[in-house]
Amino acid sequence: KSFEELGLSPQVLQGLFAMNFKKPSKIQEKSLPLLLRSPPQNMIAQSQSGTGKTAAFVITILSRLDYSVNKPQALCLAPSRELARQIEGVVKSIGQFVEGLTIQGAVPGAVPRGERLESKVVVGTPGTVMDLIKRRQFDTSQMKILCLDEADNMLDQQGLGEQCLRVKQMIPSLSQILLFSATFPDDVLRYAEQFCPNAIQIKL
Ligand code: AMP
Repeated sequence: KSFEELGLSPQVLQGLFAMNFKKPSKIQEKSLPLLLRSPPQNMIAQSQSGTGKTAAFVITILSRLDYSVNKPQALCLAPSRELARQIEGVVKSIGQFVEGLTIQGAVPGAVPRGERLESKVVVGTPGTVMDLIKRRQFDTSQMKILCLDEADNMLDQQGLGEQCLRVKQMIPSLSQILLFSATFPDDVLRYAEQFCPNAIQIKL
């Protein structure tokens, strides 16, 4: 299937072609038709790094935003600020032609105290995101998609897993939850299945 056949918006298609993505990678081909389905379904996706996972969830996010709502609607969580920045870069590139797209990093030091997040997409680390929610700088009422990158790292480490769970508890319960990772060791997968109930599981 081509990107056109997936029913993506002309602006997203333009972004993909500007990045010279001519056709979906294997993981994108497998995941996107399921990710874009209505009603939204949770997904646990396993695929090596370098296979195009980031674009898969970024395309999903860009396709699900309500561009008339100026509040956070999509949140990507990553285990490090470096990875969060990379994801932010991918959202900006693929979304470069999408009018009204706003994106903000929620990593340590990025958001001044008292400043409210107004971007539609937030990419951050779990601890900082939880702090912003607690301080009421991050209004989660309009959230509809939560994505964990390197989910094995996120759900494995005691502290991070705890933070991710707390963040999840603060967003509307009907939100679409996506877990992407290169590996899912058995114990992590069991926790992932609880974190991301009734998920479609795909593996490359
Ligand atoms: P990732 O697995 O998300 O780290 O992506 C690996 C690399 O593949 C990145 O450099 C992307 O820019 C690139 N990439 C992702 N999707 C595609 C695609 N459909 N066609 C060509 N390159 C892609």
